[in-house]
Amino acid sequence: MPRLTHEEILHWLRESDPAALEQLFARADEARRTHVGDEIHLRGLIEISSFCVRQCHYCGLRAARSMPRYRMTREEVLTGARSAVELGFGTVVLQSGEDFGIEAAWLAEIIRAIKNETPLAITLSLGERLPDELRLWRDAGADRYLLRFETSDPALYAAIHPRRGSAVSDRIALLRELRELGYEIGSGVMVGIPGQTCEMLVRDIELFEQLDLDMIGIGPFLAHPDTPLGAPGVQTAGPGPNFIDQVPSSECMVLKAVALTRLVCPEANLPSTTALATINTLDGREHGLLCGANVFMPVLTPAPYRQMYQIYPGKACLDEDATQCNACLRDRIESLGRTVGTGPGGRFTRTASQSTPIPRSQPRLTPQKNPTSPLVVLP
Ligand code: SAH
Repeated sequence: MPRLTHEEILHWLRESDPAALEQLFARADEARRTHVGDEIHLRGLIEISSFCVRQCHYCGLRAARSMPRYRMTREEVLTGARSAVELGFGTVVLQSGEDFGIEAAWLAEIIRAIKNETPLAITLSLGERLPDELRLWRDAGADRYLLRFETSDPALYAAIHPRRGSAVSDRIALLRELRELGYEIGSGVMVGIPGQTCEMLVRDIELFEQLDLDMIGIGPFLAHPDTPLGAPGVQTAGPGPNFIDQVPSSECMVLKAVALTRLVCPEANLPSTTALATINTLDGREHGLLCGANVFMPVLTPAPYRQMYQIYPGKACLDEDATQCNACLRDRIESLGRTVGTGPGGRFTRTASQSTPIPRSQPRLTPQKNPTSPLVVLP
């Protein structure tokens, strides 16, 4: 397939004709099927701590918020990992605010325990930690690290993600270090950050390709009222009166970005995000899967803690326990004629002996059904 140019990506992000967009989504779905197959991988998300030293202008965990916080115990984390195995997941994702109360040696021991006891792949998503800590966790057996760069635009990034003291926050450099350490690397962006333009979003997608990311998470920005970006008027105002190219944080815009990312980075693992399911609780998850995504990340965090880990308000499925959530997601996957992945579901890479990309993983068992609401709902 010919490479998409900068201008073409921009054109597609600005496209609003439903018939044209159906074609884009169909192309992305075909690329997804060709390169990563029909399996949907389930990654159990355990939100291990809500403490955070950062002041990110978008995030409900920012340090300035005075609210009850928690850090899970070793046993609680291991219980979460065991339930991931029982539910048939191949990966567990340990996520938190940037919490230096999570001591490197403590977590390394937990990583070793999970690896000894289970076949799970381990993804860490703990913010900007020190190279020595990242190395220790990698040596202990962690497989992947997720660190969204949020936006590739340096000025917008600096405005929404203040540096901590004198330390520069360079997530792109950190991703390269993580790659050197042997992690599979995941990153991603929010769509619809106040001040974000379509041009910036094109550069985000181009950066995904340059970094050769293994996983790419793309979700809508959701304003949290207790954060600077959630203050009344900020979301629509943009940086000034002449600012007309604000990316909307709409479902359609997210689907366009997911589809284009699938075309530009065909082998990457792309989640249909919980944030997407939050703006369309009915079938946002399915829409993501139809536009190029091949991963779900069900939440395994125990109930009392979930309520305390609200990076944005109104998170989808907050009250569902892990068993209900698992059953619901499996139904959604099957309703699309797709299958639940088994095993760790890491990056698929072609070996030299494979002349063609991945074969279709399974013949379709059931005819593809359409989700309830139409795929193209314009912003
Ligand atoms: N402390 C970790 C994990 C942060 S939460 C880190 O900084 O990497 C994971 C992701 O949630 C963030 O990277 C961000 O992209 C997303 N997120 C945070 N606030 C959000 C909001 N208000 N709306 C949508 N997504 C948000």
